Amino acid sequence: MEKKLNFLEQRILKDGIVKEGNVLRVDSFLNHQLDVLLLEEMGKEFYKRFKSEKITKVLTVEASGIAIACFVAAKFKVPVVFAKKSKSLNLGDDVYSAEVESFTHKTKNTVVITKKYISDKDNVLVIDDFLANGAALQGLISIINQAGASVAGIGIAIEKGFQPGGQFIRNLGYHLESLAIVESMEVEPKKINFRK
Ligand code: 5GP
Repeated sequence: MEKKLNFLEQRILKDGIVKEGNVLRVDSFLNHQLDVLLLEEMGKEFYKRFKSEKITKVLTVEASGIAIACFVAAKFKVPVVFAKKSKSLNLGDDVYSAEVESFTHKTKNTVVITKKYISDKDNVLVIDDFLANGAALQGLISIINQAGASVAGIGIAIEKGFQPGGQFIRNLGYHLESLAIVESMEVEPKKINFRK
């Protein structure tokens, strides 16, 4: 029997736009306009999947991860910290930083977190909107390691399963949960297949 699509998969099918270059646009509900009821549902789902962990902080990267991270953090009743993208080379020694190549813009950003917002006592749940090559996650994991904190798990809204990030991160042994895994997609006629 066909597996029923979950709430996010259904929404991607309805409103997602497939672009050339393996880019999926979800501006109408996740990346520009925000459907807060959908975000609330995502918060509940991530809570269900990670509630056995003693999460102390939710970590994401600006800008598009922040909204999802807030709804997750509200369920766990912990703060959200978002890494800031910085162009400055003069970062100072009060921050942890990592270099991240942007999948959508093909530019390199340094992402930074002020040291006082993450410590070796933290058990961190990492949240992001998309997983493609895994560069953003590797940057966030590097920052968590620099702080001596632990990675409790990683929650992704949309993983593009035909790109290498998901397998790479799982092979490193992290508990990675993606709400929707796109197995393949086509621009015209629009076609999006999900991993069962
Ligand atoms: P990665 O670092 O895993 O290669 O890419 C993840 C980051 O790139 C995410 O934070 C997300 O902002 C962006 N991204 C990657 N692929 C897509 C995509 O297909 N659509 C959108 N809207 N953003 C993407």
